[in-house]
Amino acid sequence: MDKKLLKELKEKLEKEKSRIEEELKKFAKKDEKLKGDWDTKFPKWDGEAGSSSSETMADEVEEYESLLPVEHILELKLRDINLALEKIGKGKYGVCEKCGKEIEAERLKTIPEARLCLRCKPR
Ligand SMILES: [Zn+2]
Repeated sequence: MDKKLLKELKEKLEKEKSRIEEELKKFAKKDEKLKGDWDTKFPKWDGEAGSSSSETMADEVEEYESLLPVEHILELKLRDINLALEKIGKGKYGVCEKCGKEIEAERLKTIPEARLCLRCKPR
């Protein structure tokens, strides 16, 4: 792969990585034991009996549940980004995981963390 493009994509990946980590920090805490895993913080559920009505409780559960898919998507993206950065380090970046051919440069410019080439990506 073109060195200049590789450098460009690496910078893009690193920028995206810190952006996602910032985003995750807003509502999740990093699980130190499990690398790359994030837990959504349960909103102010201190377990004090009688401190909140069951209605507030339901609202908080709803809020928690609505955050989960977002956390999941960000987490998966972060995982792919980390994987891509790892591959750059090993000099194996830009190769399709399915067919082993080079991933199209145009595709990497749009999705630098892509793991599959255009032919292999699920439609
Ligand atoms: Zn492929």
